Amino acid sequence: MSLTAPSTDDPRGGKPALAPLDDEHVRGIREDFPALAETVNGEPLSYLDSAATTQRPRQVLDAERDFLLHSNAAVHRGAHTLAGLATEAFEDARATVAEFVGASAEEIVWTSGATDALNLVAYGIANASHGRGGPAARRFALVPGDEIVVTEAEHHANLIPWQELAATTGAVLRSVPVDDVGVFDADAAAAVITDRTRILAFAHVSNVTGFVAPVAQLVELAHDRGALVVLDACQSVPHRAIDLHELGVDFAAFSGHKLLGPTGIGVLYGRAELLNALPPFRTGGSMIETVTMTGADFMPAPQRFEAGTQPVSQAVALAEAVRYLQSVGLDRVEAREELLAERMLRGLAEIPGIRVVGPPPGAPRAGLVSFDTAGVHAHDVGQFLDARGIAVRVGHHCAQPLHRRLGLTATTRASAYLYTTTEEVDRFVEAVGLVRGYFGEA
Ligand code: PMP
Repeated sequence: MSLTAPSTDDPRGGKPALAPLDDEHVRGIREDFPALAETVNGEPLSYLDSAATTQRPRQVLDAERDFLLHSNAAVHRGAHTLAGLATEAFEDARATVAEFVGASAEEIVWTSGATDALNLVAYGIANASHGRGGPAARRFALVPGDEIVVTEAEHHANLIPWQELAATTGAVLRSVPVDDVGVFDADAAAAVITDRTRILAFAHVSNVTGFVAPVAQLVELAHDRGALVVLDACQSVPHRAIDLHELGVDFAAFSGHKLLGPTGIGVLYGRAELLNALPPFRTGGSMIETVTMTGADFMPAPQRFEAGTQPVSQAVALAEAVRYLQSVGLDRVEAREELLAERMLRGLAEIPGIRVVGPPPGAPRAGLVSFDTAGVHAHDVGQFLDARGIAVRVGHHCAQPLHRRLGLTATTRASAYLYTTTEEVDRFVEAVGLVRGYFGEA
């Protein structure tokens, strides 16, 4: 990978700014990703499914392997040398991830993924509502009539835990409606948030529409009413520079495997003060101060949420993924994806019978595009593209209510990342242009 040259001068006189990522840089980046050199059905792979999971660079694979070869042990409990090395690597990884998202290390809880992280918050609040966690946890307790607000565009991972929380506490789940293209604005949210709202949970970036939520306005609306803000940052943290303290959210969740890292690891961020008051969701070894036969005292955060043996090699690899992204530069990644999304949108707009969902061209959007193909089921579109080596995601993308609102059962989603070339985007657009003809619809 050669990412540092060429550079341009920073007009503000600070660190020299790196030149925008172009296809030449991207070709260098791709050399780090062995999977991208695969062929599929005799065609070079065009991997346009990074919103589902990303490929991993050699550096990340090597970091995990090196850890397993030289330092593998359970953390925080052994008195031997390897246990010490593993614990140090595990906590260094936490510090790296914390710094990456503008948080402090004790605000970063390792989870198995974003789904797990969101459940941790919802079930922690359920426990508080049922009297667990002592006086400190009362601030979280929900009573019948309290309101939890989500949006109609949520991934099921940021919807069903709140449905369950409402069901177990008597709280009411309300949702911010989306418009005909699947997006909403702060006014739509303001119309739903009330004095009874205790939690506002929403995705920073939609995994279906690429819509970027107006976080600052939503945080202000929620905090003005004393509600907590839970941010599903799965599709934002890997793709743009994020400072969670600056955003002012109370909790945030993201997954390692969407960020060039391993599966089986994710992150819950919580403001330190909140994490130390929230009752744990899972209990067991490694999260306690003292245990008797009738009860236990829990450690402070983050350990109180990390019961059991931890995903140590995965944490080490995730930290390496973070360093990799930092070496490229998140601002460059974001700008590159914006350009690729624009190119996809421009190309798809020329094809009769393609209905793209999400913000119109020119509005902020992440590097992913979902669309309906008139007369052809998304699964057929996916197979047609796969036969040409193009990997996309088809279905409801774990967002059934959003698809229902859009009058669709499924869409085809193409998602780009820092290793996507413009040539791949063009191949994809060209292939989509052939789909309806192939199925006798044009
Ligand atoms: N939220 C969003 C917006 C997502 O895109 C995803 C993954 N598709 C999730 C939550 C859940 O992430 P995971 O499956 O890694 O737990």
